[in-house]
Amino acid sequence: MIPFNKPFLTGQETEYIKQAVASGKISGNGIFTQRCQSFFEERYGFKKTLLTSSGTDALEMAALLLNINPGDEVIVPAYTFVSTANAFVLRGAKVVFADSSAHHPNLNANLLESLITPRTKVIVVVHYAGVACDMPQIMAIADKYNLFVVEDAAHALDSYYIGPDRTKKPLGSLGHLAAFSFHETKNIIAGEGGMLVINEEQFINRAEIIWEKGTNRAAFFRGEMNKYEWVDVGSSFLPSEITAAFLWAQLENLDGIQKRRKAIWGIYQDCLKDIAQSGKLQLPFIPESATNNGFMYYVLCQNTEQRTNIIRHLGQKNILAVFHYLALHKSPFFREKHDGRELPYADLYTDTLLRLPFYYELRDEEIECICHQIKQVLA
Ligand SMILES: *Cc1c(COP(=O)(O)O)cnc(C)c1O
Repeated sequence: MIPFNKPFLTGQETEYIKQAVASGKISGNGIFTQRCQSFFEERYGFKKTLLTSSGTDALEMAALLLNINPGDEVIVPAYTFVSTANAFVLRGAKVVFADSSAHHPNLNANLLESLITPRTKVIVVVHYAGVACDMPQIMAIADKYNLFVVEDAAHALDSYYIGPDRTKKPLGSLGHLAAFSFHETKNIIAGEGGMLVINEEQFINRAEIIWEKGTNRAAFFRGEMNKYEWVDVGSSFLPSEITAAFLWAQLENLDGIQKRRKAIWGIYQDCLKDIAQSGKLQLPFIPESATNNGFMYYVLCQNTEQRTNIIRHLGQKNILAVFHYLALHKSPFFREKHDGRELPYADLYTDTLLRLPFYYELRDEEIECICHQIKQVLA
């Protein structure tokens, strides 16, 4: 049996959880939380990071920080996870869905300006499969119309945008705010977990307050206040030290995890090259301006029927392959609210994108076997 995903444990998780428990401080914002946050700030140059209980929470914090109110418009790719949109819908925003590109599920930045109205406040981008969106173009548009940009970087840990001069900029450092996820399906995991990145000085203090239920408790614990009070809206967004301790065990092994995951991606790409050349499948496209972070491996089928056949055939061989997002503009919750625009590429990826098993412990021979089985169905 080859599952689709298998959470990878480095072996130190329970040891660090034991230490967190023994320290007597198991609520949030303790030693492990601060250690994880410093790690991200130092490694990627993020101005400020706050661990959250999920990527969803980080997105909800972003919506609160940007003061989204009923009637505000937020541009969101249609081909994404529900949380990207829900975080803003919860604040009463009107979500305007953007279509994907022809060559990649990422949103088509060339269409953005046509979606902007005087009520638009935010553009949310999703770096699908860890592949960078066209951030310079998106940030230039945001600048021109005075909009904020939130990066949903849930897929994009340890991935980069590469500039025309070949300089690498970490994803999550390019928008005003960014959200990461440490859900067990991501590269680095904590069961459930996430992180908000704050790249703008102006948001840092308030982010910490929203994180701590609308109080200035974080500043109080640093000795900057002699009491803590209710000073703003907020919620309980911080994870316990138990989660942070688990996450720390993963972060210590980040380079090893990334190396293996990128190797797995490369083996798939090699094994499937010939079938792609025959035109029966399309392999993932990574533009010059993006890196691959080994988050997932997907192929694009010719149509839904072909995809169903592959899934069925692999299933018979005990290999679990899955499709991915069902574009949100056609979801049961949103379809009545959608403005009726056709989003052909979001539909195309909904219908044809197929994800293959992807996890740290997947062996080379297993990847070869999966590819062999795919070739058999298509022969
Ligand atoms: C996983 C994911 C999220 C949500 O993260 P959780 O930690 O599961 O809340 C948001 N957006 C995208 C694109 C994701 O893949």
